[in-house]
Amino acid sequence: MPRIEISKERCKGCELCLLYCPGHCIELDKSMNKRGAYPALFTDNDKKCTGCSFCAIMCPDVCITVYK
Ligand code: SF4
Ligand code: SF4
Repeated sequence: MPRIEISKERCKGCELCLLYCPGHCIELDKSMNKRGAYPALFTDNDKKCTGCSFCAIMCPDVCITVYK
């Protein structure tokens, strides 16, 4: 099953990955990281991740790794 890993401490919470994920698999975490940002969190509640990599391509800080 495809999944992603997000570097919690490097994420700046810009939300680009959330906006571009067609499956709405990513939310913002409720706890802050060391940068003072609410980082992206892979939830995939509805198991819709296809491994399309849109999130990883959009992330300006290269925080996301996709596993297919
Ligand atoms: S790989 Fe695609 S479907 Fe999976 S979280 Fe990223 S944008 Fe969403
Ligand atoms: S696009 Fe990158 S920096 Fe922005 S919220 Fe997503 S993982 Fe964090």
